[in-house]
Amino acid sequence: MLLMKPSCECCNRDLPPDSRDAMICSFECTFCADCVATRVHGKCPNCGGELVRRPIRPVEALRRFPAAPANV
Ligand SMILES: [Zn+2]
Ligand SMILES: [Zn+2]
Repeated sequence: MLLMKPSCECCNRDLPPDSRDAMICSFECTFCADCVATRVHGKCPNCGGELVRRPIRPVEALRRFPAAPANV
């Protein structure tokens, strides 16, 4: 199950579980779409992996499987 980290590791912008701007690598390093496009250029700066859009988690699922708390 994805952790759904709450913010971009690059600019610290909030990325809520229903954000369509969150991008992750296979280790779930998490970045916003802006940073992926302009700062890390589609490649995870931590592990070199591919960054893809994180799927959103619907509200009903969040009730049962909450996202990672803020400031982890
Ligand atoms: Zn960012
Ligand atoms: Zn990574």
